[in-house]
Amino acid sequence: MEIEIFGMGSVSFKRIILDFNGTLAVSGVLKEGIKNILEKLSKEFEIHVVTGDTFSSAKEQLKDLDVKTVIAPLINQTAFKLDYAKSIGLSNLVAIGNGKNDSLMLKHAHLGICVIGQEGASIEAIQNSDIVVCDIISALELFVYPKRLVATLRT
Ligand SMILES: [Mg+2]
Repeated sequence: MEIEIFGMGSVSFKRIILDFNGTLAVSGVLKEGIKNILEKLSKEFEIHVVTGDTFSSAKEQLKDLDVKTVIAPLINQTAFKLDYAKSIGLSNLVAIGNGKNDSLMLKHAHLGICVIGQEGASIEAIQNSDIVVCDIISALELFVYPKRLVATLRT
């Protein structure tokens, strides 16, 4: 997706990396409406989900979708998520998450979006993001209706 954002120039987003719990899911279960919008976005974007998988449910919950699911080890998840984001390329990358362990991928991705949702968000995740939204559908819809991105980010 190519968009012109005043103050940022022309930007191109090709990949989206997402956290699972607190972002796409609550207590390990995908939130309502997520499947539809991820299906739509996966036609235009390469989608990666990197998760600590606290409820051991991510792979099962995402099995019907065209997304790559990667489980982070128990320790050093913040660095793992950043390293994974680097491995797929930080430019053209959108990161979406809510947790402390998302803070570095949110900071270093081309665009970082923090989701508050029902689990709340860590202050580090908020401080390292370009945009903060109240729920995941609002975050994903920024890429269905990109003028919302322009409106929020333009200078
Ligand atoms: Mg989370």
